[in-house]
Amino acid sequence: MRAIEISAPNEWRLVDLPDPKPAPGEVVVGVAWCGICGTDQHILAGGFRADYPLIPGHEFTGSVVEVGPDVEGWIPGDRVAVDPNIVCGRCPYCRRGEVHLCQALTAVGVNRPGGFAERCCVPATQLHRLPPGVRFGQGALSEPLACVVHGLDRAALRAGERAVVIGTGPIGLLMVQLLRQAGAAWIGVSEPIGTRRVQALELGADAAWDPRVEDSAAAVRRATKIGADVVVECVGRPEAVTTALACARRGGRGVLFGVAEREAEVPLRPYDVFLNELTLIGSYINPFTQARALDLLAGRRINTDAIISDRFPLAEFGEALATAASGKGYKVLVGG
Ligand SMILES: [Zn+2]
Ligand SMILES: [Zn+2]
Repeated sequence: MRAIEISAPNEWRLVDLPDPKPAPGEVVVGVAWCGICGTDQHILAGGFRADYPLIPGHEFTGSVVEVGPDVEGWIPGDRVAVDPNIVCGRCPYCRRGEVHLCQALTAVGVNRPGGFAERCCVPATQLHRLPPGVRFGQGALSEPLACVVHGLDRAALRAGERAVVIGTGPIGLLMVQLLRQAGAAWIGVSEPIGTRRVQALELGADAAWDPRVEDSAAAVRRATKIGADVVVECVGRPEAVTTALACARRGGRGVLFGVAEREAEVPLRPYDVFLNELTLIGSYINPFTQARALDLLAGRRINTDAIISDRFPLAEFGEALATAASGKGYKVLVGG
């Protein structure tokens, strides 16, 4: 099979490898589409804990092509989406139901071969059945959408609250759609790229501004008087976190959703957190939320055409990466 292999940071190529063979409990998936994620870009640059050589890719769908020994309930031809995060089930966190905090967490496309390949072998426990009305391309959004569902759970939005999303790439645009449906009374968006602001407004945002031109905190206070109840940072850069905290009202919540560089730091005045009774919330991956993400897709609650902007064959992985990094489009899918 053909696959993308990263041999070292910033070194990848298209390779021919033997087809993977399923071990007991495993299933081979013929990959249909695999999305490029910010995490893949971090892995390529060497800024994320990954095991090289590596076939990246953790947001993918496909059909079961081979079933290993001791697997029940799956047959060749089944349409599936993959949950990439493999948990141990035995550590103190798993036993508390906080499986995403598992002390032995590994992931498909990070610590074992992933979905930028024609075939990928995964434990059968990681499979979700793709609902009949959900196309393979849409299903590839179920993993990032599951992260957004978890982020919304963490934000604990109540109907009638006012929200701000900092950064409307693919994740921010999914967040805008979910916030809208969850009952946000007003949604403001801070985003430097004009086309992304237009897209956010079309998907349910009420106001969008360029943070290089307009002060975000001022824009939010103009609309809400006191600031936002909830601010979701979907960029992963220190200045975006600072902006997010400045947009929150007294008593408000800030969700840090974007993946920052590991060494990045943000100046923070404890007095402000104290005086304004701010709540800072982290949101990490997608514990038990991918089934809900697939139900959202099956229920046609998510405009996926607005999120999936580009598709490339595996052989054009370089172009796909460049497109994803350019900020011109949104979610880039590889496969077909
Ligand atoms: Zn991802
Ligand atoms: Zn565990």
